Order: sequence, then C-alpha cells, then structure tokens
Amino acid sequence: MWLVSLRRRSLGVAAVIGVAAAVAVNLLTANFPGPEEVGDADLAALAGRVVAIDPGHGGVDSGAKYHGLVEKELTLAISLRLAETLRQNGATVVLTREADIDYYTRGKGGKRSDLCRRVEMINSSGAAVFVSIHTNAIRGGRWSGAEVYYCPGKDENKMLAETMQQALKNFPPGNKRQAKEDSRILVLKDTTIPGVLVETGFLSNPGEAALLADPAYQQKLAGQIARALAYHFSHNVAR
Ligand SMILES: [Zn+2]
Repeated sequence: MWLVSLRRRSLGVAAVIGVAAAVAVNLLTANFPGPEEVGDADLAALAGRVVAIDPGHGGVDSGAKYHGLVEKELTLAISLRLAETLRQNGATVVLTREADIDYYTRGKGGKRSDLCRRVEMINSSGAAVFVSIHTNAIRGGRWSGAEVYYCPGKDENKMLAETMQQALKNFPPGNKRQAKEDSRILVLKDTTIPGVLVETGFLSNPGEAALLADPAYQQKLAGQIARALAYHFSHNVAR
C-alpha cells in the first residue's frame, strides 16, 4: 500500500523540466507493447544503466499484514531479487534500503519524513528510472493481480507503466489490471526522474499471498520487472 501526501509538492520544478526536455519526442507517438514483446526484451539493454529501487515500508512501518505475511519483508525480498537480476545484466542499482530499516522522524509527520528521504535518495541516485515495490491489500480476499501506478507529470512515466503492466499480465495468470494514473502518491509525484510504483499483488488474497511468499514467484516477478525495464530502455526511450 502507498501513502498519499497531504501537502503540495515542495521540490524544484526546474529539475522536472530538465528531465522532461531530455525525453525523446517519439515518446508521444509510440505504441504500447504487448506482453509477448516485453517478455522477449533483451536484458542486454540493461547494461550500463542505472536503476533506483525503492522497497516499500521497513523498520517501524510494516505495511500491510495478512495471512501471516508482512509487506515490508516481501517488498525487500522482491527488490533484492530485482537488484541482483539487474546487476547480473550489467546495470548499476541504487536501493533506498537494503535491510529492515525506516527513515521515520519522531512525532507527527514521521511517515512523510520517511517518504521524503526516499524521494531524495532517488533524485540524487543518478538513475535513469526508479521502481518502487509494494504489495497491495483491500479488505476481503477476492481482489488479485499486480498493478502499476504512475504520475502523469512525465510522458515517460506512462510509457514505463504500460510496459511494466504488460510484463505482469501473468501475475497471477489471468491478471487483467491496467496501469493506473495517480498524482497523489508522494514517491511518484515528488521524484524528478521517471518511475513507477508496482503493487506486485494482493496480500489480502490468500492464494496470491502464498504466491508472493514463494521465492520462485518472487524471482519470476523480478525477472519480468527487469524485462520491462530492458524493453523501456531499448524501445520506449531509445536514443
Ligand atoms: Zn505498500
């Protein structure tokens, strides 16, 4: 789950304009890929790229808890698998956390401080894109499916989100969810580089919770997220 910011953005507009200007014009006219195209993406396109990964929650903030599982543990496990996959293919990875820690400050606004610290780390990472990893939860067990969120502020965000959602069509099989625009998620709206937030699945769904806890499923998820990034670098923003 993600947290909505209650305040207006405070980071510089200049940096956003700079990033937007650097994005190729053909982004506006490109077609979105199908799942097969993304699945066939060559991971070699990751070589030399810098990617920031934000494992959601951590430390005092457990995130969602269902069926004996804790979101902060799953987001870290999936993120570390993704980092390893990216590194194996020649990318450089910057993680906002690599252990069970948080960036909360004492008193009111602790959660916001944690999110702002993550935004700062992403913005200063030198990464081309970032991916924030979460697991979803809604009361009741019937909802399922990985879902990708993006902020409409940059064209490249939508491209990456649509590509990522295609890559996650089989998580779990039959997943019909669509990439969703959301301009309130702090880590998406205050970051100056393109990125998406991936809700990797519903912890509140007993079947999907079991999948998310399965190392093999986590590895497949990480692999598909890496494929989506490779497709993004080689097709969406190819220069
Ligand atoms: Zn979350």
